[in-house]
Amino acid sequence: MKLILLGAPGAGKGTQAALIKNALKVPVISTGNLLREAIAQQTELGMQAQAYMDNGHLVPDELIIGLVKEKLESHDCDNGAILDGFPRTVAQAEAMEAFSQVDVALSFEVPDEVIVKRMAGRRTCPKCHTTFHVEDNPPKVEGICDKCGETLGIRHDDDPEVVTRRLEVYHEQTEPVKHYYEGKGNLHSVIGTGSVEETSAQIYKILGLNV
Ligand code: AMP
Repeated sequence: MKLILLGAPGAGKGTQAALIKNALKVPVISTGNLLREAIAQQTELGMQAQAYMDNGHLVPDELIIGLVKEKLESHDCDNGAILDGFPRTVAQAEAMEAFSQVDVALSFEVPDEVIVKRMAGRRTCPKCHTTFHVEDNPPKVEGICDKCGETLGIRHDDDPEVVTRRLEVYHEQTEPVKHYYEGKGNLHSVIGTGSVEETSAQIYKILGLNV
């Protein structure tokens, strides 16, 4: 199954992707994580993407489309994939039609004021990318990743000013992608303001999974 997760930054896409992948037994392709890895490794792509990401803007479509196509065509994705953070523009959604089909598009609905509060408390593992929240989803040991033991950090683009820009970019460029999939009849809304478990339960129901 090919599943795409749409929603504002901090809406819970990454957290849910990590849970759903176990139930669906397909890999997660997170374009944000791929780009952060490219930056850490100082690849050509990373160097081109960094300034856009630091400022809360989207990386140009032409940099990202080929990257996703290559991942989706690898054997890891023979049984499908969960796309977290792609497509983020209608041009990306249209380009994807040429190389892959989307079965279900999930749209995480979370008001902007909740996003701003969430991002202020978000802590991220720089190694395995697991995210936590200081109040709502704290790690077992303060400041340490439960999964891999790395010291947690704050993503540069979770800075309040950058979050405001990312929300603007989301409303301008990514919300139209929701309407694109609505038109295709495969958009499902998920209320993303409850607990992690409440959100997962909605998703499992939409996907018809008995978890
Ligand atoms: P994320 O971790 O999904 O919030 O992505 C972090 C940043 O990576 C975004 O603010 C963008 O700058 C960039 N990015 C991730 N996915 C895409 C995409 N599909 N198109 C353009 N830029 C992207």
